[in-house]
Amino acid sequence: MLAELKPQTKFLVYDLVSQAGVDTSDWANYARPTVPASNPKYCYNWSFEGVDRAVVCLWFAEMKHEGGVTFQCLNYREIAASRRHWNASQRKRAAGMDHAIQLSRNRRLPIRVIVVDGSRRSDADDESRSHVERRTLDPEPWHVAAYDDDGNCRLQRGPWPPPAETFTPVEIAAAGSFAEGAKVEITAQIRERCQRLRELARAHFAKRSIDGRLHCAVCDWAPPPSFALTGPIVEIHHGLGIGEYPADGRALTFEEAIQHLTPLCPNCHRIAHAKPGGGTFTLDELKRGVKSSVSTTAV
Ligand SMILES: [Zn+2]
Ligand SMILES: [Zn+2]
Repeated sequence: MLAELKPQTKFLVYDLVSQAGVDTSDWANYARPTVPASNPKYCYNWSFEGVDRAVVCLWFAEMKHEGGVTFQCLNYREIAASRRHWNASQRKRAAGMDHAIQLSRNRRLPIRVIVVDGSRRSDADDESRSHVERRTLDPEPWHVAAYDDDGNCRLQRGPWPPPAETFTPVEIAAAGSFAEGAKVEITAQIRERCQRLRELARAHFAKRSIDGRLHCAVCDWAPPPSFALTGPIVEIHHGLGIGEYPADGRALTFEEAIQHLTPLCPNCHRIAHAKPGGGTFTLDELKRGVKSSVSTTAV
């Protein structure tokens, strides 16, 4: 079974990535005179992310075939973090591998595998280099069969299995129908936040940031710059409770007011207000909590 995957020819990475259905038009954007196929920004990478698929390079020698399935177990997150003797671009490639695998897992994207064969760089020896002698594209897609919190993963040959059932047809029938979209009238007294202050705060925090854009103070997210939007997505969080203000409000100078304002992306803002028992999480609490949920390792 495995023998049929053993590459017999050395095809170009560029050709195999194109063949796998990932757009390679950007490879032509290179300052020095060169052919797109040898653009060093791409051709040495071990993984490539397309809109609806990922492409990863896997060593043939590390593939296994057991119980009727072909698979490979790997942990490029650990490799990126632990091989301090590797140079920065190699660790970046390892982190990129892990990113492509996580992306495939999160979005159930098919993985196309470039099977490589040759001599692999040893884990410990600083001087040795990997040398690819043969390289082909597996015509079958692969999927992520397992991925744990530590980045240990198992890639398996074959398409993604259908997603798990959530509700049985009986449960769906029992849930009946849902009325949505009816008009209702509401009357409520709300505390007004000053819109002008919010706008000034947005401009203040954007001016302070490195790229002039408004970023979330917790996770650093900012909307994609090239994307036309109807309005700002990053929100201004008021750290000062207004419940206890007098009914006609309270006048604050800009310097006083800005102390209590924080730019937050909608996700972090939602979390800020989801503190059990009421109140809001502090900025430090948010930063600690959000950081621990990020699993990729920066190199
Ligand atoms: Zn955020
Ligand atoms: Zn808020």
